[in-house]
Amino acid sequence: MTQLLIKFKNVFMTALTIGKILNDYQGFLMDYEVEQLRKVQRTPSDFTTQVKAIQLALFAEEWDFMGDSGADSKDRSRGINPMNQEYIDRVNKKREAFSVSLLSEDGYSTDNSSDLFCEEVVRHTKNYKELLEHKKNKTKQTVFVDMDNVLVNFKSGIDKISEEDKLKYEGDLDEVPGIFFLMEPYDGAIEGYKWLCKNFDTYILSTAPWDNPSAWQDKLLWVKKYLPDEAYKRLILSHNKHLVHGDFLIDDRTANGAGKFLGKHIHFGPKGDKDFADWKAVIAYLKNLT
Ligand SMILES: [Mg+2]
Repeated sequence: MTQLLIKFKNVFMTALTIGKILNDYQGFLMDYEVEQLRKVQRTPSDFTTQVKAIQLALFAEEWDFMGDSGADSKDRSRGINPMNQEYIDRVNKKREAFSVSLLSEDGYSTDNSSDLFCEEVVRHTKNYKELLEHKKNKTKQTVFVDMDNVLVNFKSGIDKISEEDKLKYEGDLDEVPGIFFLMEPYDGAIEGYKWLCKNFDTYILSTAPWDNPSAWQDKLLWVKKYLPDEAYKRLILSHNKHLVHGDFLIDDRTANGAGKFLGKHIHFGPKGDKDFADWKAVIAYLKNLT
């Protein structure tokens, strides 16, 4: 399914497990949906398989079109959902209860909100093979942490450069030689990073500007200054963050591969559609997933 950028705050912050859905949401579900969900609960599988299984159990209406007759598909092409109104209302009420987008008028799902919802359910149910494997081997899930505007307060570096450099590098302030070492830690970042180290296999994953060679050195020096033991030999500098394999990436942007990261992108920052405004929100979320 196409990964759309439309995100729903509720979806991300939902800490529903399969058990909680079965207990608290039965009124929104049909018997066959409950039965399917119970089946998933009884059969632990790997993460991706479990997400798909929950999606098929809870949101099977997204595949209704596959059973269309000729007349049904004609209806759909004219923007009409051929399913009966009672069914459509019931399905949309359920989707609303889970903060998943309603079906479009022609009965198709309109975004990836049900995928994201099901991923969160699997993460919180904690019964998928990869996690059980970690528990058995006493290993930890992997977290990658971005630097600029996550670990590092970028603006604090700008505040320290000369007016002359501000003018000279206007529009490209990340190319000021030495600027990255001048930056202060982001609010709550050092404590947050140290907490992560105790609970996850934690690495720094940052991008250094291609046209500022000193940034590559300054980022290393910054890490040695503020996180000397915790981040020892755990600094990765890359323009291709999607190539790194792991469970979580805390990043304020989708650039340099962050948006294509295969695990969970914890979209960090106080502005816009970011799901995690600060370090407190990140830790509150991850605390439930260890
Ligand atoms: Mg950043």
